[in-house]
Amino acid sequence: MADNKLTRPWHGVPREEIPWYPVIDVDACIGCGTCVTSCGRDVYRFDFEAKKAVVANPMNCMVACQTCANTCPSRAISFPAEDEILRMEDLVLVHHSVEDELLSRRDQLEVDSGLPRGDLVHLKVTRIQEVGGGTRIFTLSPVGEADRLCQFVPGQYLEIAVPDSHFMARAYSIANAPRSDDTVELQIRRVKGGRLSAWAFDSAHEGEVIQARGPLGAFTMRSPVDRPLVFVARGTGFAPIKSLLEQQVNMLPQRPMLLFWGATSSDDFYELEQMATLMRRAPNLRVTLVARRFDPDFIPPERAGVATGRLSDALAASGLDLSGFDAYLAGPRLTVTDCLLALRGLGVEEDRLFADSMST
Ligand SMILES: Cc1cc2nc3c(=O)[nH]c(=O)nc-3n(C[C@H](O)[C@H](O)[C@H](O)COP(=O)(O)OP(=O)(O)OC[C@H]3O[C@@H](n4cnc5c(N)ncnc54)[C@H](O)[C@@H]3O)c2cc1C
Ligand code: SF4
Ligand code: SF4
Repeated sequence: MADNKLTRPWHGVPREEIPWYPVIDVDACIGCGTCVTSCGRDVYRFDFEAKKAVVANPMNCMVACQTCANTCPSRAISFPAEDEILRMEDLVLVHHSVEDELLSRRDQLEVDSGLPRGDLVHLKVTRIQEVGGGTRIFTLSPVGEADRLCQFVPGQYLEIAVPDSHFMARAYSIANAPRSDDTVELQIRRVKGGRLSAWAFDSAHEGEVIQARGPLGAFTMRSPVDRPLVFVARGTGFAPIKSLLEQQVNMLPQRPMLLFWGATSSDDFYELEQMATLMRRAPNLRVTLVARRFDPDFIPPERAGVATGRLSDALAASGLDLSGFDAYLAGPRLTVTDCLLALRGLGVEEDRLFADSMST
């Protein structure tokens, strides 16, 4: 019998809406009974005459558990594709329900792993700019002890606490190289139903002081100074790439560098003035803006190229010989995977590819 205790909603999603339970291939089942006796959730019964295991209470099965499939000697048990569960884990409802539970059980669950957690700092929102692509640029100034932030390395990120929360935090890449006034710039994109997005787009105001931890992360420059570089960015991946690029323009303006910046539409590109300035300062920097569609009135910065289509296709079609280059990529996981493939095809060696995936 389905057990009410075992069929409670899974992180807010009704259990009956989740198609996760074992399916037995009766021809392959040799009737050993391992699954029946090892499942602690009463999912199975046993047909003693036919000598076969039977899935009697499928909804008792724990979402994402596969213990019985792993221990079945004849590999007779299967489950839905794991992608189904990963898709569920992406749902705002699931993400928020997990987060709320973690915080409500903090007393029981908390442990100090010894991993870097960054310094706790206070930052004042000194400027909020609306730019393309559903993105806002926040300029933040250190308040008091936050001057430690000036020690960040380009490519690193901060964890910004959702204001008025019990320290729920979200990661945002710093989008600039270190500045003399210690300000940092974050490019925050709206995520539907998102908690920090709701603050960033609906209630944040200049002068507000927020909490953050950082700097964190290891997506930093690691190439010898004599190597040419190719940067590839899409979505919010543009932030760490811009930080790395600015660092190079400040330190080694003659360095040969390529930037491929991908977006859905030409309206999603922003800070093109700054891009033009970087190209003026770095004569060997070549920029290509890649979008699925371009507004007929779109004017790219002087010397910047444009390409229509997917970022990985534009890279592959560039015909460039990138052997000898080091490559830095940031953006959504699938884009990064496709672009890695394209870069390998253009001759970038495996140990010279450095990638950072983010969800948007
Ligand atoms: C290293 C790093 C750097 C980042 N840099 C930027 C940046 O520069 N600019 C930017 O706009 N965003 C960046 N992000 C994404 C950012 O941290 C947030 O995930 C995003 O802004 C959504 O936050 P939210 O509170 O608005 O939405 P949430 O309330 O977190 O929920 C919205 C969605 O988040 C997704 N989600 C589920 N699990 C997770 C998880 N574990 N972590 C994050 N999202 C999850 C789900 O799809 C959910 O639907 C970065 C992420 C990482 C890991
Ligand atoms: S563990 Fe596999 S072989 Fe054994 S009874 Fe279960 S399904 Fe059949
Ligand atoms: S996956 Fe886990 S909970 Fe589900 S039937 Fe198998 S052992 Fe039981």
